Amino acid sequence: MDYDVIVAGGGPAGSAAAAECARLGLSTLCIEEHGTIGFPVQCAGLLSTAAFAECRVMERSVLNRVSGARVITGAGSILSINAGTTKAVVVDRGTLDRDMAQAAADAGAVFRLKTQVWSLDGNTVRTRGAYGHEEFRSRILIAADGPRSTIARLRGMERAKVMLAGIQADLPGPCDPDVVEIYPDASPEFFGWSIPTGPGRVRVGLCGTRSVPERFSAFLKRFGTTSCHLVTGTLPLGPMPRTFGNGTLYVGDAAGFAKPTSGGGVYTGIRSARHAAAVAAEACSHDTITDPILAGYEQRWKEDFGHELEMGFVLFSLRQKMKPSDTDALIRALDDPSIISTIEKYGDMDRPRKLIKKLLINPAVFRLLQPLFSAGLRSLW
Ligand SMILES: Cc1cc2nc3c(=O)[nH]c(=O)nc-3n(C[C@H](O)[C@H](O)[C@H](O)COP(=O)(O)OP(=O)(O)OC[C@H]3O[C@@H](n4cnc5c(N)ncnc54)[C@H](O)[C@@H]3O)c2cc1C
Repeated sequence: MDYDVIVAGGGPAGSAAAAECARLGLSTLCIEEHGTIGFPVQCAGLLSTAAFAECRVMERSVLNRVSGARVITGAGSILSINAGTTKAVVVDRGTLDRDMAQAAADAGAVFRLKTQVWSLDGNTVRTRGAYGHEEFRSRILIAADGPRSTIARLRGMERAKVMLAGIQADLPGPCDPDVVEIYPDASPEFFGWSIPTGPGRVRVGLCGTRSVPERFSAFLKRFGTTSCHLVTGTLPLGPMPRTFGNGTLYVGDAAGFAKPTSGGGVYTGIRSARHAAAVAAEACSHDTITDPILAGYEQRWKEDFGHELEMGFVLFSLRQKMKPSDTDALIRALDDPSIISTIEKYGDMDRPRKLIKKLLINPAVFRLLQPLFSAGLRSLW
């Protein structure tokens, strides 16, 4: 069967791409390997209010709203930030993903569930699953098939620079429902988190490149309870060097768009999906679809959030050089009323560049970081 666009993957990026393509009048098929959209959940569900708005769904997936963050080091230093207004929501990702898929279906996209893309031949997509072996053809393929993208592998594309492993549990336990807690020393390459899903319940997890299960077991002891609900997943950091080619556009985690500062990938995933849909619509208006037409996609996402990802990756690289004593010194240096008010004013989970520039012009912060990262700091500018 022929379509203008096939979207592989029914996560947030895939559903956003399918919805936008359908709204732009393209015949659109979305193929998802699982029988249920949004399962299994591989996410902490923390979205900035801007990221949630990008999802364009009603609020029934929202479990909690948060206004602040507390960074707690292994040495016991604490940095408390509170904007006094909702900065982020905590969502049930299963419900969110299903709401987004439903919106795409309502816009006219066709969904094929329990169907896996397993092979490609030019613009023919071969699938297997609940409907047996099938073949679909399209003018454009949008790869939204997540961190382990089968399509990127089949097309021989170079992937993200770093793959982080993540693990998380939902726990009962006391918490401040307005505040997310960050534990940098729980996982020295990244961090651990405790996210309140509502009064008396938290999501506790961490991401890292090594010893992740062992670190997680040690981290859980802090919360003094065992979990009956574990989430594991992979986070690709660093965009693939080329995000288009061969009639294919790569979006979301398939392209390595998770933010290297926070690991969040929903915001960039959805933004990239909308850019891909716009370029797909333009491409489908031509008789022949060529790489120079598809290159417009890469230009669009780079203009939108490319600099944010680039700076995030520099910060991620600097983070790899920090010892727990450096992190502790940094947190103590930031614990100053004027710096805290700068963070509260300019902090933006999705676009941290502005805040980082503001912080680096603070002499105390710059003095502290300069000996550690003189080369990296130069590239931040
Ligand atoms: C532990 C952890 C915590 C996280 N916490 C957050 C957070 O708090 N906030 C945030 O913004 N982000 C978070 N993320 C990242 C976020 O989950 C991803 O960035 C986001 O889900 C990417 O969306 P996507 O649509 O690109 O990919 P995915 O959500 O991975 O969706 C890909 C879809 O493609 C399907 N698929 C895969 N292969 C095939 C195939 N061959 N054929 C058909 N279908 C296929 C999959 O089943 C899946 O449904 C977290 C990630 C991890 C691992």
